[in-house]
Amino acid sequence: MTSLWFERAWLGNEWKKDVRLRIADGRIAKVEVGAEVAEGDDRHRVGLPGLCNVHSHGFQRGMAGLSERRSRPDDNFWSWREIMYRFLDRLTPDDVAAITAQAYAEMLETGFTRVGEFHYLHHDPAGAAYADPAEMAGAIAEASAATGIGLTLLPVFYAHGNFGAAAPSPGQRRFLNDIDGFAKLLGASRSKLSGDANMGVAPHSLRAVTPEELTALLVMSPAGPVHIHAAEQVKEVADCVAWSGARPVEWLLDNAGVDARWCLIHSTHLDESEVPRLAASGAVAGLCPITEGNLGDGIFPAIDYLAAGGRFGVGTDSNILVDAAQELRALEYSQRLAHRARALLAGEASPFVGANLFARAVDGGAQALGVPAGLAVGHAADIVSLDLDHPAFAGTDDATLFDRWIFAARAGAVDTVWRAGAKCVENGRHVDSEAIGAAYRACVARVLA
Ligand code: ZN
Repeated sequence: MTSLWFERAWLGNEWKKDVRLRIADGRIAKVEVGAEVAEGDDRHRVGLPGLCNVHSHGFQRGMAGLSERRSRPDDNFWSWREIMYRFLDRLTPDDVAAITAQAYAEMLETGFTRVGEFHYLHHDPAGAAYADPAEMAGAIAEASAATGIGLTLLPVFYAHGNFGAAAPSPGQRRFLNDIDGFAKLLGASRSKLSGDANMGVAPHSLRAVTPEELTALLVMSPAGPVHIHAAEQVKEVADCVAWSGARPVEWLLDNAGVDARWCLIHSTHLDESEVPRLAASGAVAGLCPITEGNLGDGIFPAIDYLAAGGRFGVGTDSNILVDAAQELRALEYSQRLAHRARALLAGEASPFVGANLFARAVDGGAQALGVPAGLAVGHAADIVSLDLDHPAFAGTDDATLFDRWIFAARAGAVDTVWRAGAKCVENGRHVDSEAIGAAYRACVARVLA
C-alpha cells in the first residue's frame, strides 16, 4: 500500500490540513485528516484531485502551430478545418499513437489525469475500414497505456456533411460510418479498453447525424457519457435554424432527452432562453476556451450560465496548447474582455475565482466522463501536487492558492502527478517524456516531410 501525506489537500471542495491518502490497487483506500506525518509517507505540500479533460482530438496536437498564417482574407474555422483534413489524411495508426501519447503526456504534466477522447479518425487513408474496425481506437488506448492517463473513449458517429443528411466531403472519408458499421466499431472498440477505462458515444454534431441516427445511437449506448459538438459556430447555428427552425442546443433540448449523461461541447452560441434551459438539464457544457479562442469561435455566456447553476468541464480540444490551468484562465479572461470587468466567475460561496473554477471543473469534468469526482475513498487515486517553491506561490495562503496557480504561474507549477496510484509526473515532467517526445518528433517530421 502506498501512503501519501500532504500539508494540505483539497477534499470535498475545501482545504484540509495534514492529510494522508492510503492507496491500494490504484484507488484511494483511506483518507485521514489531521494525521501526523509518519515513516513511509511520501510527503508533499499540496494535494489536488486531477482534472478530467472532457474533450480532446489527440492527433491534432501534431498540427499545432501550422494553421496560424493568413491564407485568405476570410480565414476562419472552416478554412482551419481544411488544413486539419489535409494533415490527418496522412496519418497511420502508429502515427496517431505517437502523436496522441505526446498530447497525453502534456496533459498529465499540467494536471489532467483523465481524457475524453472524441475519436473520429476511424478508417484508412482511402476511407475503408481497417481489418480491425477499431484499429485507431487501439492506437488511442496504446497512447493512454504508454502515458498512464485515464481514458474515456468516445467513438464518434459521423455520416453526413451538413444538416439534412447532406453528402459528406472527400476530406471526411476517414470518419464515416452507417449505423451497422458503427455498431461493429463500438463493439470492437470496447475490447481495446483496459484498467479503469470506460466508453461513451459521440454523435459528432447535428451536421453529421440525422435525428433517426441519433435515436439509434442512444439505443445502442443506453448508459454512459453522450458527447456532441453543439453551437460552436455562428454559421452552424444559422444552418440549423434553416434546417429545423431551432438553434442546435435548443433542438437537442427539445428532441434528444438531454440530461446528466450529456456533455455539449462548446455550446458557445446560446440565446437567453437556452442558457437557463441547458443549466437546468443537468448536462455539462464542455468548454475549450484556448481552442475556441484559437479558432475564433466566440465567447461562451459563462456568467449567466454559472449563475443559473450550469455545470461545465474544460477540454483541450485541438490541443494547440495543452494546459489545465490556462484553460481556466482563458475562460475567466474571455469574460473580462467581453464585459470589461474583473473577477466575474467567482462563486456565491467563495469570492476567489480560481477556487470556484477549479472546484466546478473537477465536478463537471468527472460527470462528463462518467467517473466519480474528487479525492475520496473508492475513487481512482488521480492526484496532483503543486510545487509551492514556484515563485507564483510566494507567501501563499489557502484562499489565494488556486488564483496564484491559474492566473500567476507559467509552466512548472505542477510538481507530481499520480494516476491510478502510479507516479506519472515527477518534477513537472512525465516520467517517460524523453522517449515519448523522441517518438513524437520523429513521427511529425516524417508526416510533414
Ligand atoms: Zn472538437
